[in-house]
Amino acid sequence: MNAAAKWQWLEEELSRLKANNLFRTLRPLSSPQRSHVIWQGRELLLLASNAYLDMCADPEVIAYTAQAVQKWGCGSGGSRLTTGTTELHTRLEEALADFKGREAAIVFNSGFAANSGVIPALCPGADDWIFSDELNHASIIDGCRGTKARCIVYRHNDMADLSQKILASGFCTRVSGHGLIVSDAVFSMDGDIVDLPGMLAAAERFGLLTMVDEAHSTGVIGAAGRGIEEHFALPGRVDILMGTLSKSLGAEGGYVCGSQALVDYLRNKCRSYIFSTSLAPATMAAGLKALEILTADPSRPARLQANVRHFCRELTAAGVPARSATAIIPIPIGDEAKAVRVSQLLLEAGIFISAIRYPTVKRGQAILRAALMSSHTETELSFAAREIAKAIARA
Ligand SMILES: *Cc1c(COP(=O)(O)O)cnc(C)c1O
Repeated sequence: MNAAAKWQWLEEELSRLKANNLFRTLRPLSSPQRSHVIWQGRELLLLASNAYLDMCADPEVIAYTAQAVQKWGCGSGGSRLTTGTTELHTRLEEALADFKGREAAIVFNSGFAANSGVIPALCPGADDWIFSDELNHASIIDGCRGTKARCIVYRHNDMADLSQKILASGFCTRVSGHGLIVSDAVFSMDGDIVDLPGMLAAAERFGLLTMVDEAHSTGVIGAAGRGIEEHFALPGRVDILMGTLSKSLGAEGGYVCGSQALVDYLRNKCRSYIFSTSLAPATMAAGLKALEILTADPSRPARLQANVRHFCRELTAAGVPARSATAIIPIPIGDEAKAVRVSQLLLEAGIFISAIRYPTVKRGQAILRAALMSSHTETELSFAAREIAKAIARA
């Protein structure tokens, strides 16, 4: 066999991806993540970021984080249970627990590390059960794949299907083991909100634990941006409240808020927490300052929510019906190649908005995923809505 032959399978897969308009490339930015970014020397209006509250380059966050780098240095030097916990790590955990109204919180290196570690730690055994929404994030799916538990996927946000699947599963007649229902709070591609009352009712009826992923709800929904429980006025009801510091808070790291016992257990059992060097102290400082800004001043989530209403109105008026109650506004396109063309036309018009394709969404159901920030102006959003309608008509 010659040297090239052993890589033939890989070359073939790359060719397949390219032929199907599924090949991804990077777009390195030359500016911080704000509502406007520089790409290839051009300024673009950014409608694709998860930094919903425009915190990544907030002057207060930068100043506080820069001072933390000076004081604490860069790397953390160890895992959380060895030498990688500083006072900033524990302060951030206390602040998160306060913000979510819980006894305790635990910070992971990312939201992905949290989900992929927490689920196997909570439901490790072959006699355990996990019920998971079909549109849950990849990190939840990986968490389910990492356990011996029986994983049952229910129809998207369909609580009748969830109840029926629990009943049909044998969970109710088990002799050992326990069960978990897990769902995104705000679904990352469609921007819709979990039916939390329905989920809690099913959990209560059958005696399962509940876990909700607040990656796209923290800082976004609820009058003060406190997330899913505030949105439904059901404080303290979710057993395992997971989230990330990497989206609306503009920093990095995942977290779980819950009882002290839950947090103690996760610190001792979660492989992604135990066997990984902790995040840098300055990263904790960025999260702390962003959380402090959000806690002290709920005007950012209010502005974000007003922007979403304005943008959906403007899109609909331009002939592109759109609805969302979160910062994510999906615009259906369908064909993968067309979605890429629309996104390309929008780049030419000075707007950065991502085309989302299989495998992130189903085949033939490509979307433009508009993501808004609290700092977008109404003028910018009206302009973007008109350009999106034009691009769809032309592509
Ligand atoms: C982004 C995301 C994650 C992962 O969080 P990171 O901090 O980016 O690793 C987990 N769950 C959902 C729903 C997400 O959108």
